[in-house]
Amino acid sequence: MRQMIMGNWKMHGLRGSGERLAREIAKGADPACVSRDLVIAPPFTLLSSLAPLLSPHGIGLAAQDCHEDPDGAHTGDIAAPMLADLGVSHVILGHSERRQNHHESSALICRKVEAAQKSGLIPVLCVGETEADKAADRVEDVLGRQIEESLPRGFSGIVAYEPVWAIGTGQAATEQDISDRMAFLHAAIARHLETDDKATRILYGGSVKPEDAASILAVPGVGGVLVGGASLTAESFLGIARAG
Ligand code: 13P
Repeated sequence: MRQMIMGNWKMHGLRGSGERLAREIAKGADPACVSRDLVIAPPFTLLSSLAPLLSPHGIGLAAQDCHEDPDGAHTGDIAAPMLADLGVSHVILGHSERRQNHHESSALICRKVEAAQKSGLIPVLCVGETEADKAADRVEDVLGRQIEESLPRGFSGIVAYEPVWAIGTGQAATEQDISDRMAFLHAAIARHLETDDKATRILYGGSVKPEDAASILAVPGVGGVLVGGASLTAESFLGIARAG
């Protein structure tokens, strides 16, 4: 399975700067230089203008959230069919910033995953423990519960392991930790879905930089990386895409 490099722009980018960055990334994403799948997740406001810039270059387009209902009286929300209608291919769900800032529960995230799948989008479900979970030695309990509660039975998508303490801190998890968590998550997902261990691609996210991308991408079980800060310049995002 090809590895995936996904850039989560979070709440960054106006029309000018976002389109410029997308064009720079597209220019450098020649398949001769990049043998990995690339996906960009800009803010909602840039999805429609980025779609025609990225798709001719085979770069996927992701949203950063969707509502669990296909339509309805939900002021300010965006439904999965609206995203599919714009040419969006993937949607990030259950990111820790949404679990924390918007109090999203795993049960709600599970409904969002189902809504995304129903609209033909590939869900990218995020899981990860906090610093407190790590200190209390309950990482596997937390990850196991997030998998059980956020993954619907017919799940067919991508999982991203993003330890909350590694996000935006400059402190990525160690290769050993990533390797252990990948093994744990592959087994937990296989048990939950009653499928083959390696059928689900699992990304690592949390302070991935061009300098350490090659060693993270070489960790067994890693299906790619989900990149925040370092996806905001073409140089660092492509540096990660070409690493190794
Ligand atoms: P950073 O790469 O900035 O740590 O962010 C990771 C992340 O949250 C991607 O979804």
